[in-house]
Amino acid sequence: MTSPTPPNSPADSADHKVSNFLRQIIEKDIEQGTYDSRRWAGSPGDAAHHAKGEPDPAKIRTRFPPEPNGYLHVGHAKSICINFGLAKEYGGVCHLRFDDTNPEKEDTEYVNSIIDAVKWLGFDWAQLGQAAGSAAPYQASDYFDFMYRAAESLIEAGHAYVDEQSAEDMRANRGDFGKPGVDSPFRSRTVAENLARFREMKGGQLADGAAVLRAKIDMASPNINMRDPAIYRIRRATHHHTGDTWCIYPMYTFAHPIEDALEQITHSICTLEFEDQRPFYDWLMERLCECGLLAAPSPKQYEFARLNLTYVITSKRKLAQMVNEGKVSGWDDPRMPTIVGLRRRGYTPESLRLFADRIGVTKSDSWIDYSTLEGCLREDLENKAHRGMAVLDPVKLVLTNWAEAFGSDGYTEDCTQPALPHSAIAEGHTPPADRVFKIGKEVWIEREDFEEVPPKGYKRLFPGNVVRLKGGYVIECTGCARDAAGRVTEVHAKVLPGTKSGTPGADSVKAKAAITWVGVADGVQAEVRLYDRLFAEAHPDAGGKDFLQSLNPDSLKVVTAYVEPSLAGAQPDQKFQFERFGYFVADRLDHLAGAKPVFNRVTGLKDSWGK
Ligand code: ATP
Ligand code: MG
Repeated sequence: MTSPTPPNSPADSADHKVSNFLRQIIEKDIEQGTYDSRRWAGSPGDAAHHAKGEPDPAKIRTRFPPEPNGYLHVGHAKSICINFGLAKEYGGVCHLRFDDTNPEKEDTEYVNSIIDAVKWLGFDWAQLGQAAGSAAPYQASDYFDFMYRAAESLIEAGHAYVDEQSAEDMRANRGDFGKPGVDSPFRSRTVAENLARFREMKGGQLADGAAVLRAKIDMASPNINMRDPAIYRIRRATHHHTGDTWCIYPMYTFAHPIEDALEQITHSICTLEFEDQRPFYDWLMERLCECGLLAAPSPKQYEFARLNLTYVITSKRKLAQMVNEGKVSGWDDPRMPTIVGLRRRGYTPESLRLFADRIGVTKSDSWIDYSTLEGCLREDLENKAHRGMAVLDPVKLVLTNWAEAFGSDGYTEDCTQPALPHSAIAEGHTPPADRVFKIGKEVWIEREDFEEVPPKGYKRLFPGNVVRLKGGYVIECTGCARDAAGRVTEVHAKVLPGTKSGTPGADSVKAKAAITWVGVADGVQAEVRLYDRLFAEAHPDAGGKDFLQSLNPDSLKVVTAYVEPSLAGAQPDQKFQFERFGYFVADRLDHLAGAKPVFNRVTGLKDSWGK
C-alpha cells in the first residue's frame, strides 16, 4: 500500500493514476483534438465569464451537477473526485452546477452545504471551474430562458407537441417493455396549435398537470425513454432562485443536456441509471444543432457504476427521512454517510480522495466493503495523527509504596513519549515535540487490565504480576479493594524505583506487558463518543425492506474517560491515535463548547467489519 499524499502532489496528476475507461476516452479526445474547435459563443452559460469567439483554453470540461435537495453523501464524494479530479489531471475545468429544475424541493441551505463539501474535499471550484472573479457556481435555472426557446424551436421543427391526455391515459399509452406505446390523440396537432398551446402553458392559462410538452420521437421505440418523453410540465411553485417568474419547468432529462451544451461540457459523466437516457441526450443535441441553437461538437454522456457501500445508505431521500424522524442527530451526525457526517466523524479529505482512487471507475455495479473506506482513513492518519493515552473505562490504581520510594505521597514526575513513532517521520523531517505527562501515586487504568484471578494467558495486572505503565515505571500488582457489591474500586500495586522508561534501569526488571494509563495528577475528564456502524445489516435497503428495521441500536455509546494533557489541549477537528484503541477526533462542534473535551471514535486500529 502506498502512503497517502497531500493534494497537488504527483499522485494527483494523470501520470500516476491507474487507467480506466474514462481516462482512455479523454486521452483519445485530447489526442484527436475532438473539442479543439470549441469557441465561447456568448451563450447564456458562458456569457458572463468568457469572451465571445475565443477558443476554449480548457482541454476538457466536466461538471458535477447535484440537485440541491439534501446534503451530499459518500457516493457524491466519488462523483466529485472523478469529475474535478479528471479536470485537474488533464488541464481542464469542472463546473459545479446546481441542477435546480425542480422548484419544490430545493433550498439555499443545501446549496451552501454542497459548496462547502466540494471545497472541503480539496477542489476549489472557483479556480477549477469558473473564470477568475466569478462569484457563484453555475445553475440550471440561469438557462430557463434558453430552455424555453429550445422548446419552441423543437415545436417549430415538428419535434414536440403539447399533450393533454390525462396522466392515467399517458401512462397506459406509453406501453411497457413487452408492449409498444400508442400515439396520443394530441400527437398530430399542427405547429401553430402546439405553439399557441405551449404559450398558454407558460402564460398560466392551464392548470397544473393539465398538459405537458412532449418530444415527438417514436412511441414504438424499444427504449421507453424515447417514447415521446415529457420535456416541460406546469408547476405553480416558487423557485428558490427564479421566484414566481415561471409556472412551467423543464424536465431534468431535457434540461440536463442543454446545461451541458451551454457550458461547453465535453465529457458529461454520470451514473449507470442514466444509460437509457443517453439516446435522448444525443437526439436532443442533434435536433438543437439542426435548429441552429447549439453548435457542434456536442458534449457526450458517459456512465460509470455508482458507489454502493456495505452498511451504508446512499439515498438522499432516505437520509432525509432519518434526519426528519430523529433517528440521528442531524445531517452531520457522525454516523451519517454524508460528507458533513464523515467530516465530523473524523474522516479527512485525503482519505476520501484515496478511497475514490482505490475503488476506481467501472461500468458494472458492485458493492464496496466498508472496511475499504476505513482502511483509507487509517492509512492517511497512521503517519499524521499524534499518539496519546486515554482511559475509556477507568478504575484507580494506587501505588501503595509511593511515599516510601519517592519521599512523599504528593510527589509527581514527568514522563515523556514521542507524539509520533519513529516510523511515521519521513526522512529529513523534524519529529514533533514529545508529549509530557505526570506519574504520581495514583493513576487511571482500564478496568479490564486487572483480574484478581487471571484467565489463562492473561498478562496484565493480577496479584504478583509485573507490568509496565507505558512510558513510566514498572509496577508489581498486590491486590485490590472492592465495594459492598464486589466491584473493584481500586487496584493496588508497588512501584519499582529505578525502572522508568528511557532511564538506564528501564530493562533491569522484565515486565510481562505494558498497559496504558493516565495520571490522576494531570489527567483530564473527557466525553468520548464511541460510534459503531449505523446499520446492523450489510445491505440495509436491499430487496425493498424497511431500512429503519436494520438500524443498529448500539451505534452510539457515550463514556466518561480520562485523557492525557496533550489530548485535552486538542483543537476541534484534530485527530489522534488513542494508543490501543484507534483513531479519535476532537468533535468539531462540541469539543470546546462545554465543560469537558469531547472526542469521537473514528475507527478502531484494525478492521472489525469482516466479523
Ligand atoms: P440520491 O439518489 O441520493 O438522491 P442523486 O443521484 O439524486 O442522489 P444528485 O444530486 O442528482 O443526487 O447527484 C449528483 C451527482 O452525483 C450525479 O451525477 C449522480 O450521478 C452522482 N451520484 C449520486 N449518487 C452517487 C453514488 N452513490 N455514487 C456515485 N455517484 C453518485
Ligand atoms: Mg438525481
